[in-house]
Amino acid sequence: MTGPDGVITCDACPVLCRIRPGKTGACDRYGNTDGCLTRMDPLVVLSHDPARVPIGPWDGNPLAAQDVTITAICAGTTYPDYKPAPFIVGSTIDGIDMVTVVTEGVFSYCGLKVKIDTDRHIGPECAPVRAGGEQVGHVTTAEYGSQMLSLGGVRHLTGGGKREGMATCAALLALANQGAVDLTVDGGASLRVQSGQPPIIDGVEEARMRVGCGSATIGIFAPQWQGHADEVIVVDDHITGVLTEHQAGRFLGMRPSGIRVRGRRSTPGRYFQVANPGAGWGGTDVRDPLDIIERIDPRAAWPGLRLLMVSTTGEHAGWYVLDDALAPQPAPMPPAIADAVARIGENCEPALCTVLFMAGAGGSLRAGATGNPVLLTRSVQGRLTRVTAGGAPVYLWPGGGITYMVDVATLPANAFGAVPTPALVAPIEFTLPLADYAALGGYMDRVRRLEDVLAGAKVLLAAPSPSGRGPG
Ligand code: SF4
Repeated sequence: MTGPDGVITCDACPVLCRIRPGKTGACDRYGNTDGCLTRMDPLVVLSHDPARVPIGPWDGNPLAAQDVTITAICAGTTYPDYKPAPFIVGSTIDGIDMVTVVTEGVFSYCGLKVKIDTDRHIGPECAPVRAGGEQVGHVTTAEYGSQMLSLGGVRHLTGGGKREGMATCAALLALANQGAVDLTVDGGASLRVQSGQPPIIDGVEEARMRVGCGSATIGIFAPQWQGHADEVIVVDDHITGVLTEHQAGRFLGMRPSGIRVRGRRSTPGRYFQVANPGAGWGGTDVRDPLDIIERIDPRAAWPGLRLLMVSTTGEHAGWYVLDDALAPQPAPMPPAIADAVARIGENCEPALCTVLFMAGAGGSLRAGATGNPVLLTRSVQGRLTRVTAGGAPVYLWPGGGITYMVDVATLPANAFGAVPTPALVAPIEFTLPLADYAALGGYMDRVRRLEDVLAGAKVLLAAPSPSGRGPG
């Protein structure tokens, strides 16, 4: 819609920006180019064979269509949603006529699940997570060797104040585009998280993801310690292990040491809550590991008993020998024990942040693919239609709707955008056989051959992520 002053009203989202000639709208995605509403960035097409179809701006040379995959990145959005998707593209894959419906979905129902590989306590579960002082999510259930955040979601995008919504949208956008974001946890740590990078917790870059919980560490390494130590205690915020009492030590016939640690005994050699969570040994607040020893039974322990205390990453380790009063005294660590501690470290994987985008595409977006949306949903759920995000495979949640997750690292760079409603803009592609598309009431008259789309659109050729694959 163009006004007399050359101003265009963008109708690609509910914001309805009025854009002057030569300017862009609020999201910078659309602009007024010579009186035309224009998606400013080139459509991203993945090149599977860069030798044949080189990466970079397309120079107009004929493309071998079988060597490329169209994505929805920078494809544009249609609004209201009942208009057909910006590109409905026919191609032939392995001799079968296929169609790919691509659109940049505007998602108010979306968020990120962030996995932070660390033992360190970042804050209590359910604690608010903030960006720029605004709550953008919360700490959620910890996983094995990782702390987890749940960020975004409709409540933070729409249910709080305007600042909360905008801060949430900005944090989601930066993280989804694989940028770094500074966060704080109420009652916990300050964090810098970025997909594919080590987390920085309270200013310290995390290096190692723990080898396992304290009990698992004993289960893995017990035979390697036997003969070199009389007792090994693996300090862990969740399950601290005591070797000679643990099934592993008993199986090896080790003599009970009589050393009892604090906390709640779960099963033999496995103790919960030996200390409070923190940034010390094994994700506890312990700075001196001897603090977790509750008592040493004189009927079982003996002078000269050799004790290793170690964390689940091997970053913290202490070697002690009991004196005549059965008090642990620090002693130089023997080479065999130093090697055993190094082996724990060697088995730790590099600590990384992983960012998964999660959204619901089971709403009005479907109307851009078919006038009878439930058929698309059933086709997706029945695996007749393949869903990808920027060419990357997604995980589809079972149950109703089209709720999916995708690792942002599997998408090309800067695949996500945002609009100030606020909501995230994410690429989504539906690929299915052409005959099935017709059967579900697709917009058959809008199907264009891939070669024609490529000839008519501004195209950027990108490489698929090593861990992503195109819909073909
Ligand atoms: S925010 Fe972007 S998509 Fe929405 S109306 Fe403005 S320019 Fe168009």
